Order: sequence, then C-alpha cells, then structure tokens
Amino acid sequence: MANTGEGDQTQVSRHQEVGHKSLLQSDALYQYILETSVYPREPECMKELREVTAKHPWWVWFNFTLIIFWGNIMTTSADEGQFLNMLLKLINAKNTMEIGVYTGYSLLATALAIPDDGKILAMDINRENFELGLPSIEKAGVAHKIDFREGPALPVLDQMIEDGKYHGTFDFIFVDADKDNYLNYHKRLIDLVKVGGVIGYDNTLWNGSVVAPPDAPLRKYVRYYRDFVIELNKALAADPRIEICMLPVGDGVTICRRIS
Ligand code: SAM
Ligand code: CA
Repeated sequence: MANTGEGDQTQVSRHQEVGHKSLLQSDALYQYILETSVYPREPECMKELREVTAKHPWWVWFNFTLIIFWGNIMTTSADEGQFLNMLLKLINAKNTMEIGVYTGYSLLATALAIPDDGKILAMDINRENFELGLPSIEKAGVAHKIDFREGPALPVLDQMIEDGKYHGTFDFIFVDADKDNYLNYHKRLIDLVKVGGVIGYDNTLWNGSVVAPPDAPLRKYVRYYRDFVIELNKALAADPRIEICMLPVGDGVTICRRIS
C-alpha cells in the first residue's frame, strides 16, 4: 500500500516492530488485525512474555559469521499465537509436542489451550532462552504441563520411535526449529502423531523467499534454508498420509492432519 501521509508512515514504522511476521502486502491491514482482534484478547502473561522477548537479543553462528537478531524476529507473532491457541482448542488437543521453544511464546499459547492435565514435550537446544520466558509461564499457572528437554530434538524422536509406546499418541505437534531438519522430523513425527492428529510446520513461506528469483538479494541464512523449505513444501504436498493446508499466518504455517 502506498504511503499517502503521516498516518501511513506511522503504521509502517509500527509494523517494522514485528519484522517480517506477516506476509500481508498491506502493513496497515496487518496492524488492523493486531489491534482489532489480537492484542485486545491477548492474555496478560503472553503480552508480558512477548515484551520480555522483544528486548532480548538472539545470536547464532552461521557459516563463521555471528548473526544477532532481536527477539521479535525469532518468536511466534501474536496473531499466530492466537491462531495456535484456537486450533488446539478446536481439536481438543491434550498430548502435544513442540520442537523449537526459544523463549516460549508458542509454548505458552499451547499450555493455555490444553486442559489442566494436558502435556507438552518441549525441546530446544537452548535452555537459557526458555528460562527467560519461564516466569511468565509460571505466573500463568501452566508450567506443570511442560516437560522441557534441552538438546537436539532428533535423537529424542528416534528414542521414542524405538521405544514403541509413543506411536500414534500425540494430538498436536508444532515444529519451529532448524529448517534443514524438517523433513527428518516429518519422517518420525508422522508415526508419533495419532491418526486425526495435527502437525504444524512453521515458516513454510520462509520470509517470502520460496518465490524469490535465483539472483534475488537474500540474507545468507534465508538463502541457505530456502531450498530446505521448498523441498519440505513439495514433500508435504505429495504425502498421501496427510491432508494439508498452508496458511499465510506469520511467516507461513502448514497444518498437516494425519489420515493414515
Ligand atoms: N516457537 C518459538 C517461539 O514461539 O518463540 C520460536 C522458535 S525459534 C524460531 C527456533 C528455535 O529452535 C531456537 O530456540 C533454537 O534454539 C531451536 N533449535 C534449533 N535447532 C534445534 C534442534 N536441532 N533441536 C531443538 N531445537 C532446535
Ligand atoms: Ca517460527
């Protein structure tokens, strides 16, 4: 949308606070969604966690280069958090898993949606970030639902597959971690989610880069993960064991319902 005056300029700069969290072409429309239906209904604990996260820098080494992000680039956006919370309630999810916790915004959206005896197996290679958000989760009275495991998720999944007793036991699984492993996760998660259960893969539009021309000037880490995301999207579309729906919420989220 063209900037036609001061008001629009303000909206653009406010939208930049949430980075690339929406692929909507109009900043004003995204701001409208946030202000009309998301922020007014966002629980206080989630708002607090979002604000703590926004002040927190996050860094990663990528190809010998240190990349520093501010937390709001990494975290799930408030509108996606609201969507996840609604989805979990609609499917009556009770036994859930999350791969990629960071400071816990999507984790808290999940913990608030499932019943008091519901469970979340939450995995992340970094415990410090989880602990940053933990006070908000504890304040909300939902920390008892969370079983946090520090470390890479893949070996935990392999162990669960080998164990046998976890097959077909998860109502909902949210994957929001290392994009180059999404297909490896899918190979395992399809056994662990129950028939009729749901896996959500996050960032499947990968900053819009899935349609960028080969010579487009992309940030290095966006370019690196793009091909993995494109491969995942093709594989999900071709997988007869699931029904899928790709939503342009946040950075794109693909909802997969296991049917066999
Ligand atoms: N869902 C989170 C939220 O709502 O704030 C955001 C997750 S962030 C985009 C990705 C996370 O995946 C990071 O915290 C990172 O440490 C974690 N991660 C990266 N590789 C991982 C792996 N192999 N196993 C588990 N977690 C991993
Ligand atoms: Ca994400």
